[in-house]
Amino acid sequence: MPLVSGMELKSNKLELEKNFEEACLSKEFVMLVKSLKLDKTSAMKKTIKLQETLEEKSHCKNCKGTFMCKNAYNGHVLIPTKKENRIYFTYMPCKYEEQILEKNKQNERKVRMKDIDTKDKKQLSIIKWMDSFYENYDLAKNSKGLYLHGSFGSGKTYLLTALLNELEITKHVSVEMVYFPEVLRSIKEDFDAFGYKMQRFMNVDILLLDDIGAEKVTEWGRDEVLGTILQHRMEKNKTTFFTSNLTIKELETNLSIANNSVDKVKSRRIIERIKQLSVDMELVSENRRD
Ligand code: ADP
Ligand code: MG
Repeated sequence: MPLVSGMELKSNKLELEKNFEEACLSKEFVMLVKSLKLDKTSAMKKTIKLQETLEEKSHCKNCKGTFMCKNAYNGHVLIPTKKENRIYFTYMPCKYEEQILEKNKQNERKVRMKDIDTKDKKQLSIIKWMDSFYENYDLAKNSKGLYLHGSFGSGKTYLLTALLNELEITKHVSVEMVYFPEVLRSIKEDFDAFGYKMQRFMNVDILLLDDIGAEKVTEWGRDEVLGTILQHRMEKNKTTFFTSNLTIKELETNLSIANNSVDKVKSRRIIERIKQLSVDMELVSENRRD
């Protein structure tokens, strides 16, 4: 005796057909079948699965992120594809999940605290300071950053980058590390983005202004850009780091552009803000750049 009788097969087929006809009341469903170029028999067999893909797609429509994902497999969406006349259903990462995957990929390439070697004894006091900063870091507290100055190639940028990456990845702090001379150049080139960039520099949880004083700044760069950023960060108790080849004293001279009395006052004002925002430390060591 056959496992499934002819009668049963027939009623199954009727059932499938009924489901299919019902599904076809939806315009989206008809369009989907059409776009996949499915004939009626193949489409009929997959009605429920096809409907499921439409439902998942509709969930994605007003979704704001994987935290509110309504789909069966978080951060993914069921997609139908046709290959050699057969239909396949696969879970694909949604646009939010893709962003997360991309970010994770970037994070894998970032320098972390564990990558720091400790063979240069001159770096030890800085590394110790950073360890303690990392352990005690609390967004709600007002923690001062460093004004890390010293010789070229001694590891200033490297060390602070490792610390900030670590905080970003493990403590989800927003950080921005910018090569300061480049900030001024890029702002001049793309003035439309000026406001947006300034907002970011003013409000990010931790800012690193790298290589400050490496170039002579203009009055505008000093007062409107640097001054504004530092003033805002001071008022909002936002952690700020600096690296420089200059001591604070030398930076004061560097920032006194025209070297007249008005300029000296303005430069002094910037220096006061830097002192309020950071702890002064020195790293003079061998040049490790190749
Ligand atoms: P600076 O900013 O002081 O001019 P960098 O931070 O650019 O110097 O350091 C130069 C190079 O030395 C870095 O690119 C990095 O490869 C290497 N370096 C410095 N310190 C360390 C360290 N503790 N562990 C691993 N590499 C380091
Ligand atoms: Mg540097």
